Amino acid sequence: VIKAAIFDLDDTLYDQDNYYYAVCSGFASRYNFNADELMQHYRRLKGKTQDIFGDVLKAIDKYSAERQEDFFKEYSTVNTNLELFSDAKELVSWLKEKKIRTGIITNGVPEVQKNKIKALKAEEQFDSIVYGRNWGKEMEKPHPKPFLQIMEELECSSEEIIFVGDTLETDIQGAINAGIKKNFLLDRNDRYGQLNDIKIISTLTEMKQFFEI
Ligand SMILES: [Mg+2]
Repeated sequence: VIKAAIFDLDDTLYDQDNYYYAVCSGFASRYNFNADELMQHYRRLKGKTQDIFGDVLKAIDKYSAERQEDFFKEYSTVNTNLELFSDAKELVSWLKEKKIRTGIITNGVPEVQKNKIKALKAEEQFDSIVYGRNWGKEMEKPHPKPFLQIMEELECSSEEIIFVGDTLETDIQGAINAGIKKNFLLDRNDRYGQLNDIKIISTLTEMKQFFEI
């Protein structure tokens, strides 16, 4: 019997670009920059750099160490409201009706991730939230530690939970490392295609069928 559903946060439960947009808007308004322009460069550079804020500033020819720091500060403190993806919202309320517990495991700077959680009002909607980096960067997903932590908090074993995430190397590998067999790769935009031995879904709505066993 499945007792809990665990989710990755960024791009699994909500669209991370919406958070970045709020960050770019807040930052741009203080410097009189164009938020859409910042966002365009962000979209082009994301995943390709270790210093997204520095590189976006360089792209608009406005780089300084101080501005880069200030951009990051906006990233960890921006005050905004975000919505879960509509399929996530629907699944979470369905799980609540079914009395299935819910949790989130997220990587990244805890201060930033907590600010996203606040923007989503996710504390009220999920039973447990685990920040992998609380134990150091090397203990983030795919390390089993955050998975074992959330299983303890939700009082269930690896057989009693379902895990969903959108990144193979961290989310799915982490679930496998923690002994969670019911793990699903959420591939909303068909980024991965077919993968051997990996269960792929394209929307969270598809999850419902896996709880009724
Ligand atoms: Mg993600």
